[in-house]
Amino acid sequence: MAEILIVEDEPSINELIRRNLELAGHHCTQIFDGNEAITILAEKNFDLVILDIMLPGADGYEVLEQIQGTPVILLTAKSELSDKLRGLNRGADDYITKPFQMLELAARVEALLRRTKKAKKCFELDNVRLDFERRLILVDGKPVDCTPKEYDLFVTLVKNRNIALSREKLLDLVWGYDFDGGTRTVDVHIQRLRAKLGLEERIVTVYKLGYRLEAPV
Ligand code: CA
Repeated sequence: MAEILIVEDEPSINELIRRNLELAGHHCTQIFDGNEAITILAEKNFDLVILDIMLPGADGYEVLEQIQGTPVILLTAKSELSDKLRGLNRGADDYITKPFQMLELAARVEALLRRTKKAKKCFELDNVRLDFERRLILVDGKPVDCTPKEYDLFVTLVKNRNIALSREKLLDLVWGYDFDGGTRTVDVHIQRLRAKLGLEERIVTVYKLGYRLEAPV
């Protein structure tokens, strides 16, 4: 799920985009004016912005100047090359010309999210974010205080998500084959992870075997 800001003054287009992106599992915030877009961008972080050029208040180019580090898809009624270049030169990641097919916009949104996620080297599940580069687990954007073993265990579950892992396998992968403690160690760490990350429903117990992290594919 991504947090997406839609800046488009035409209510029917804004609504069409919101409906389709929410069907794809994203959460959308709708804005209809350039100045309001600048205000909300200063207050809140988004994973992606869909930005119309011709807007009341500040126009799309002015809004674009306020955006740093967030991927942007420009919506433009203008099909002239110069307008597209102007947007791309000012930091937009992609553009789409109106009238557009919703399927095409949705595909571009997913492609851009995939690209940026890969670049960020993060895994996200519900409100939990695993940041591989910083070796951090964040819940609602706040770093969770966890031990190195708890971190390694979560990484192992994430890398093998939707696969049932036996306690012995987890011991091997996380603690190493020469670890002397019993499989009870795994249970204790799993319980702590579930509680710390609020993933009681996601980290499921596999009867008589071990554990599985359930995540959307
Ligand atoms: Ca417009």
